[in-house]
Amino acid sequence: MKKIVVLGAGYAGLKTVVELQKKLKGQVEITLVDQNDYHYEATDLHEVASGNLPASKITFPISDVLNPQMTTLLLDRVTKVDPANRQVALANHAPLTYDYCVFALGFVSETFGIKGAKANSLPMTNVDEAVAIHDHIVAQMKDYRQSQDPNDLKIIICGAGFTGIELAGAVADARPRYAQLAGVTPDQVTIDIIDASKRLLPMFNDQLAAYGVNLLKKLNVQITTEALIQEIQPATVLYKGANDEEGTPLHKVTGNTIIWTTGVSGSPVVAESGLPQRRGRVMDSDHLTAPDDDQLYMAGDVSAVIPPAGKRPYPTTAQIALSMANYIAKDIAARVKGTSRPGAYTYKSLGTVASVGNTRAFGEASGHSFKGYPASVLKKIIMNKSLMELGGFKELFAKGRFDLYH
Ligand code: NAD
Repeated sequence: MKKIVVLGAGYAGLKTVVELQKKLKGQVEITLVDQNDYHYEATDLHEVASGNLPASKITFPISDVLNPQMTTLLLDRVTKVDPANRQVALANHAPLTYDYCVFALGFVSETFGIKGAKANSLPMTNVDEAVAIHDHIVAQMKDYRQSQDPNDLKIIICGAGFTGIELAGAVADARPRYAQLAGVTPDQVTIDIIDASKRLLPMFNDQLAAYGVNLLKKLNVQITTEALIQEIQPATVLYKGANDEEGTPLHKVTGNTIIWTTGVSGSPVVAESGLPQRRGRVMDSDHLTAPDDDQLYMAGDVSAVIPPAGKRPYPTTAQIALSMANYIAKDIAARVKGTSRPGAYTYKSLGTVASVGNTRAFGEASGHSFKGYPASVLKKIIMNKSLMELGGFKELFAKGRFDLYH
């Protein structure tokens, strides 16, 4: 019986397993490796970091969607893949061998080597880190009652990409709660977001991007653009203004909560495995395999696919990860059954919506722009769809977002 090893139970890995279980019932042995026994919705980490949702609301047990007759879940950390010998090395178990491997180990925070970023700011790439951010904010707010140090009330977000913007919106929603903990008024809790670009949110047209930025401004989020962060010291962000003259001292913003959302790279296991990569992403073949290796599929945030007319790869999103998983399961099923393989992978984005708190959002879908409350409803529908695709009705009913009418 063919052995399929799937690395990572994020959107790409877990969806591949779910589809393979349907398509190849009883015909293959699947081993799914993850360091956690739960799947989490990475698109909602900002809700946990802000404290608006408990971690339990964005996670579900992986075993809920596994068919134990076909799939074994191995709780371990992948350290390396050896494509030449078709082996996967693990931290605490003997190596696994495979006929087909689906490498879907996700992303890590990218600090671009900026001094002090790792030591003095908080990343937000997994559930533990998101919980740690919320715990940290709560501790600062409580501390303020004794210290009366204004830095306790200051939250700084480094990087105004999709992640930073959504986080700022969620934190703004939570501000009255933080203020209560600190014994101050909500406007005393400040939120700063700092970014190197002049024009934020390049994935949206000018009008939508400006709308999104304005939503944040209305929520009293201070946005600083053209600010290239050079160093993070304890409780201090140091940046260079884009138009600063030579010799101008670095600008300083202080605050006891500094969150790092300046971008991500694919899992370091990609480089560790000697695969050709850039920032942890491998340029996929048209069947979503690594170059020159038809047994090793690269899916989700560790992969890069260039649109037919484009130069830059599609952005990494849950939507493309799920679409890749569907394709990979189809391709593997055809190969196992000996039927003809699907043609080259193609992708068409269904749209992108960014939330700014619970009841405001903006984005585009099917060629239409959506703004404000209707966009926030659309965002929840999109999230429920992906939850349904992965976890079926059970997870949808337990964890779905049905608070549409706030
Ligand atoms: P990103 O790369 O999209 O944005 C990072 C931001 O940080 C950029 O605006 C950049 O200008 C800024 N930056 C980088 N270095 C800086 C520096 N030294 N000083 C100041 N600013 C700096 O990263 P992200 O927001 O984490 O998103 C990562 C990927 O995940 C993207 O492809 C994004 O589209 C995707 N994503 C999608 C969703 C969704 O679809 N719901 C949600 C979150 C993220």
